[in-house]
Amino acid sequence: MDNNTNMNRRKFLQKLGLGASSALTLLAMNKLNILGCGLKRPGSNGDNDAPCEMTYRTQNGTGEKISLLGFGMMRLPDSQDEVNRLVDYAIAHGVNYFDTAPMYKGGHNEAQTGRALSRHPREKYYVATKMSNQSRHQWGLSESKKMYEKSFRELQVDYIDYYLLHGVGGGGMDELRGRFLDNGLLDFLLEEREAGRIRHLGFSYHGDVSVFDWLLDNQDKYHWDFVQIQMNYLDWRHASLEKSGWKRDADAEYLYEKLEKTGVQAVVMEPLRGGSLARMRDNLKQRLTAIRPDATPASWAFRWVGSHPNILTTLSGMNQMEHLEANVRTFSPLAPCTDAENRVLEDIADVMAGFPVIPCTACAYCMPCPFGVDIPGNFAYYNEAVEKQILPLPDPQSTDYAIRKQQFADGLKKALPDTSKWATQCTDCEACLSKCPQQIRIPNQMVRIVETLSKKS
Ligand code: SF4
Ligand code: SF4
Repeated sequence: MDNNTNMNRRKFLQKLGLGASSALTLLAMNKLNILGCGLKRPGSNGDNDAPCEMTYRTQNGTGEKISLLGFGMMRLPDSQDEVNRLVDYAIAHGVNYFDTAPMYKGGHNEAQTGRALSRHPREKYYVATKMSNQSRHQWGLSESKKMYEKSFRELQVDYIDYYLLHGVGGGGMDELRGRFLDNGLLDFLLEEREAGRIRHLGFSYHGDVSVFDWLLDNQDKYHWDFVQIQMNYLDWRHASLEKSGWKRDADAEYLYEKLEKTGVQAVVMEPLRGGSLARMRDNLKQRLTAIRPDATPASWAFRWVGSHPNILTTLSGMNQMEHLEANVRTFSPLAPCTDAENRVLEDIADVMAGFPVIPCTACAYCMPCPFGVDIPGNFAYYNEAVEKQILPLPDPQSTDYAIRKQQFADGLKKALPDTSKWATQCTDCEACLSKCPQQIRIPNQMVRIVETLSKKS
């Protein structure tokens, strides 16, 4: 092959000698009575097969069709039966992109994903996983190779469709050099792509934009097949604000446009910005329901992302069947946002950008805290209090002040009944600081919560 990205999927499967095993898994699939889009049961005219109007995007190099809704496996439930049920439903309704990583769910996520997916024919799904060698002790080439090889075993595959350098940007160019360049790991991964064990190579990006720029400016050398970025209508123009101790230095608009100019397709993460775009204030929500009475705020956010043509797929971390069903409906087929709808979302983003929320996406990369603090739990509650307009607290002279302060404390007790998980336990040890892909200065934000609890009435 000249270039693996030009190899079509059938040839690729033939090259790996997977024709026979695929036939066997197809039989297994029929046993499960699960058939997704574009695949008819033998002897069937397709009339009774799962209906599918899923929207697909074409991968630039191979021409393969990727569902615009991708399944982010990070937040899977513990029960394997439940995971299987979600995966079966997703595949039956045309979802074919599944994203996992060695570090998700305490290291069990790839195995859960592999068990669920391996019950389906290999050509029915594209699996994405990552080189999650974020900890310094994993930077050595042999340690990293072990992680790479384990991914194949856990996922039960002979090739990985989409492989990512996980979370580059945090730690700047020094960390990129340590994790991927100086140790020869990126050269190894490029060779693996050449050999066909990695079909598409990309990176997921958070943090220092100079790293993002450097990697794309070297596109002639690395030939990135895709890049995963955080993109939603709030981060489009409001990601790079510096407030309350957190800072990111590039808006999604910049990232997306740079990818488009470079000819690299984007995979989108955090389309709901950690769920905050699904739980908006009533007065903002009313602006959306006035236009589309039955549409949820989440479906608006997905439609906004999916309306951008250079998006290959949009990851949604779905752990409940009702969310999966709702998202499948939104993408089957996707109704792109009109210009007027885009303007409404832009206005809403401008308003939301003024809310003092903590931009936590509940990814839990910062966990566990050695002092037992439930970091995402505290931040989720803080943001909920902002959304419910309990925070920020009004002027202490106001009649509302004592009531709102009490509401905040009562709400925290309800959200986190175990007080040993509260922000008040934070010792400012900074163990979490370098782990947050959103660049949140976690201990400073813990202080915000503690101060709100302890403010004098
Ligand atoms: S700084 Fe606070 S929240 Fe972070 S790890 Fe230390 S104690 Fe936990
Ligand atoms: S604080 Fe950062 S690392 Fe921790 S859950 Fe939130 S976004 Fe993730």
